Amino acid sequence: MSKEIKKIGVLTSGGDAPGMNAAIRSVVRTCAYHHIECVGIYRGYQGMIEGDFKEMGPRSVNNIVNKGGTILKSARSKEFMTPEGRKKAYDNLVAAGVNALVIIGGDGSFTGAEVFNEEYGFPVMGIPGTIDNDIFGTSHTLGYDTALNTVVEVIDKIRDTASSHNRLFFVEVMGRDAGHIALNAGIGAGAEEILIPEEDLGLDRLLESLKKSKASGKSSSIVVIAEGDKIGKNVFELKDYVEENLPEYDVRVSVLGHMQRGGAPTCYDRVLASRLGVKAVESILEGKSNFMVGVLQDKIALTPLEQAIKGKSEIDRELLRVSDIMST
Ligand code: ATP
Repeated sequence: MSKEIKKIGVLTSGGDAPGMNAAIRSVVRTCAYHHIECVGIYRGYQGMIEGDFKEMGPRSVNNIVNKGGTILKSARSKEFMTPEGRKKAYDNLVAAGVNALVIIGGDGSFTGAEVFNEEYGFPVMGIPGTIDNDIFGTSHTLGYDTALNTVVEVIDKIRDTASSHNRLFFVEVMGRDAGHIALNAGIGAGAEEILIPEEDLGLDRLLESLKKSKASGKSSSIVVIAEGDKIGKNVFELKDYVEENLPEYDVRVSVLGHMQRGGAPTCYDRVLASRLGVKAVESILEGKSNFMVGVLQDKIALTPLEQAIKGKSEIDRELLRVSDIMST
């Protein structure tokens, strides 16, 4: 184990995600287990610039494994994008005796970590925390499983009202660039069609599919739409288009929004966060830097930050076929 690492800083950055607290807890307790000090950095990189630090012992993270959000708060910091901002952050870390950082966040946060490492040679390790699951080098990001379960639960409720009134519901879920949430939650909730950024379903096919489903005796339907779906119309434009072309349908729209980020993390996210936190700290102590700790085929795996940032997390195309077959 590296002799130089005496104190590790941990921060959460970018959009918050359920499981971030469980990851903070894991980092803090793994540090304590290895007799290393741990410092919590508030409000991501902005807190690093402002020196908003707090020493964290193993008891400081009691009762947070089950909490959504992040006790360290998160932020987006424009100042960290400037060399002057990063210099302030570096000076604060040195003054506080911090030797390495664990960054819990998305690809933007990892880019910041990489830049910081390049400039100051400061050891950094990333943990993927974002509900979108859009990071290369991990099959699951923290919060994704919880978001899927939240979305499925809500669509189940929407289905109750849709079937009582013979309505067609368009449910918009998060995912500007990635359709993981829409595709998986859509299949899980029994959606008629799923519109995602990776695949252009086409308006004609959507209309055909809805006509077919009506003809086959379905009286209500749910269409799940990712924010950034390829058709390019927003969910309200899509509603107008369908109502113009299929006047027999009474279309309602439900935009799920930020509720998808909240809530207690699922058991899967808590276990994943615990595993990732242990590996992040132990990798730093082994002298590693500039990696993201992820999970691939249920094994914890390190991916160079550069690849995690540049690589594309692909959707499982077989799921498109499964979805098609399920809507028969
Ligand atoms: P989410 O996936 O939820 O958006 P994210 O980590 O991608 O999370 P961003 O807002 O893109 O969120 O990035 C978080 C922070 O990382 C930024 O506010 C900024 O402080 C830092 N950051 C991003 N890109 C850079 C960069 N090129 N140089 C320095 N810092 C950066």
